[in-house]
Amino acid sequence: MTVQERKLKPQETENSSAAAPGLTGGPPLTETGGVLTIDLEAIAANWRALADHVEPAECAAVVKADAYGCGLREVAAALAATGCETFFVAHLHEARIVREIAPDATIYVLNGIPPDGAPQFAAVRARPVIGSMPELLEWDAFCSVNNWTGGAALHFDTGMNRLGVPVDEAPALSSRMKMPKHGISLLMSHLACADAPDHPLNTRQVQIFRELRMMFRGVPASLANSSGIFLGPATHCEIVRPGAALYGINPTPAEANPMRQVVNLKGRIVQVRQVPRGGSVGYSATWTATHETRVAIVSVGYGDGHLRAGAALSGEQPVAIIAGKRCPVIGRISMDLLALDVSGVPEKSVRRGDFATLLGDGIEVDELARFGDLIGYEVLTSLGRRHHRVWKPLAKQG
Ligand SMILES: *Cc1c(COP(=O)(O)O)cnc(C)c1O
Repeated sequence: MTVQERKLKPQETENSSAAAPGLTGGPPLTETGGVLTIDLEAIAANWRALADHVEPAECAAVVKADAYGCGLREVAAALAATGCETFFVAHLHEARIVREIAPDATIYVLNGIPPDGAPQFAAVRARPVIGSMPELLEWDAFCSVNNWTGGAALHFDTGMNRLGVPVDEAPALSSRMKMPKHGISLLMSHLACADAPDHPLNTRQVQIFRELRMMFRGVPASLANSSGIFLGPATHCEIVRPGAALYGINPTPAEANPMRQVVNLKGRIVQVRQVPRGGSVGYSATWTATHETRVAIVSVGYGDGHLRAGAALSGEQPVAIIAGKRCPVIGRISMDLLALDVSGVPEKSVRRGDFATLLGDGIEVDELARFGDLIGYEVLTSLGRRHHRVWKPLAKQG
């Protein structure tokens, strides 16, 4: 069954994460403050572009955090239908969802095994990414007692000091490679500064990882996240692990964004009002009209994950698009509302019930993030759970 063939049952529309992959989710269109559209074809196109770029290496997909807010079921189904065979998630409960969608996929769980958690991994046929010696001992014990050969990644810390076995353990561990059932299906590490190509830590991590690969010959290796892919073929190894770039975040922040935009957010205009000269808008009266101003009140706010307090810090005003015109957000963003200066838009083009574009149609996710003093990852992972959601299906193949 392809994504576009899946039909949504009525009870499944409430919450995408509890439902089969669908075409819509969240509250109905008539009751929603915002409409979030996720373009699955754009995600698929981004994956294909990265897969072509890294050939002959394999391109996996990182779908943790509800596929960066884009809907785990829908995104996993679209990517599996596009040819993606390996998925990375953060937690086992995310792996379970991917397993339902993609019965044959290889699934790695980045955050590893919690104490006594090994049996659950086997039940889902998920592979833990082992990042410490206690985890490795526990996993080995489980595998030998149960004869489990489901595989695991061995994550070495090459300089990030977050997860990963210290590299000085590598020589001792590499001796297990002589055993036929060593159980390690992937050698892994993670780059700390891949989005800054000139950062010296990149070269150091690549070099350490190269030495590790020589100790673990024959085991497929994975180093690159989205930005890492663009550091060049030295990082590609056998498998790359892009997340952000799939969802339209620029993996090369110093250059033009090579990825397609995926997410579009529109907010409903609740009312349009005239604010007289000298009148202020919003909490704490941070914005004051220097001349009479037409203002549209839009029913999206920080309670929907929209920018929140950072908007005030960045010193730049975010914008929305109405009838092709960029309109600045004015005053503080409230929990459920924000205000736009729509003086530049013809009156007939901005009415109660119309929609203003807050993300997409030329407002890139990274641009919105900058306005909020955030990164694109934060914008996507905090996309409102209470928006009406529409998944634009994959393009018909052939
Ligand atoms: C999240 C994550 C990725 C994906 O990173 P992006 O920058 O989103 O491409 C890859 N590897 C690990 C270990 C991660 O935690």
